[in-house]
Amino acid sequence: MKNELTHKLLKFIDASPTMFHATASCKQRLEEAQFSFLNPSTAWQLQVGGKYYTTMNDSAIIAFCIHSNDVETEGFKIIGTHGDVPGFRIKPHSQMQTENYIKLNTEGYGGPILSTWFDRPLSVAGRVALKSDNLLRPKTVLVDVNKPVLIIPNLAIHMNRDINNGVKINKQKDTLPILSYTNEPVSTNLMLDLLAKTLNVSAEDILDADLYLYPYEKGMRVGLNEEFISASRLDDLSMTYSGLEAILHASSSKGISMFVCYDNEEIGSHTKQGADSPYLIRTMERILLALGKEREALFMALENSFMLSGDVAHLSHPNYMEKSDPTNPVLPGKGPAIKVNANFSYTTDSDTYAVFAGICKAHDIPFQVFVNRSDERGGSTIGPVAASHLGIRSVDIGTPMLAMHSARELMAVDDFVYTVQAMKAFFSL
Ligand code: ZN
Repeated sequence: MKNELTHKLLKFIDASPTMFHATASCKQRLEEAQFSFLNPSTAWQLQVGGKYYTTMNDSAIIAFCIHSNDVETEGFKIIGTHGDVPGFRIKPHSQMQTENYIKLNTEGYGGPILSTWFDRPLSVAGRVALKSDNLLRPKTVLVDVNKPVLIIPNLAIHMNRDINNGVKINKQKDTLPILSYTNEPVSTNLMLDLLAKTLNVSAEDILDADLYLYPYEKGMRVGLNEEFISASRLDDLSMTYSGLEAILHASSSKGISMFVCYDNEEIGSHTKQGADSPYLIRTMERILLALGKEREALFMALENSFMLSGDVAHLSHPNYMEKSDPTNPVLPGKGPAIKVNANFSYTTDSDTYAVFAGICKAHDIPFQVFVNRSDERGGSTIGPVAASHLGIRSVDIGTPMLAMHSARELMAVDDFVYTVQAMKAFFSL
């Protein structure tokens, strides 16, 4: 089971170079499992026993199973994750020429570890807006060039003797990727031509695009016994995949099990498809209305709901143990970490900690605790944002990993599998 799950995770990550593709990958699995698509702009007809999903902006997705009609007292069990990844977005009018090199102008998205993007074959994927008959609704399609067309070369050590002593990296100068070189005058937009060719449309029909660079190399298992997963986008596609497995196998008979994968966590969640939006609560209200209930039912259900906010956690690094909390090391093979913070960068409190710990204990799943060193600021995640919109009980958990926000991250196979088990157990309640 372990090998099969890991194989499926790596396939999911490879098929999901951007938040748009992550949403499409989830959609595909849900369709295969007979979840019905709900069009957000038409009235919903829902039934107890039904399985449904809906999307926002092609980049966020909510899937749910209605196990019983008594949602007021049995509530929603929600798993939340995110599908966006730190990296680079290609700017408008991006083509630049330096002597006979052709390179692209890009802008950072979120907080990537910049040095990890050098000397890697890169490809391009995203969403393209095409001309349609309706000016208010351009046709949107996903695109994945799926070839190593770009690279950001390092400056040789001979020209930068300080390269191993900590060098500042400037996103407007140092990280612009090379696309080609030419000894002929260039009169067209080469990236636009590539998109048109990839999509088999005319370049004039392309109005705009949300395009991101991504590392072309595939994920793989590493270690003496292949005990680690080395891949891009483990933050947060490993948790997203775990949540997806859980909703596909939701075995509860109570209330509603719900999975939401948000966009834009890496930039603070403040978009219509991010956690800081009415997307989730509005969907919950629509579900209850479609089940023939009054609005009051929503407020009762919220009181009885619970959220598992799933975003990766930090493993203690063997070369930098001093960077981790002195009494709460997080180690590979010891299970998902419950994330705790006195200032509530995470939603966990003793009440919700006890819920997740109880689930793990009841199913013999190991778990550990992550807290920042008191002099390290740490990050935050979707949990606090989403839970403050909903006003529900919530716990933050994460599969622990090394090299978070690197172009290639590292996690233990066992911890990924334990997280899937814990999420499945949550959706059996
Ligand atoms: Zn994350």
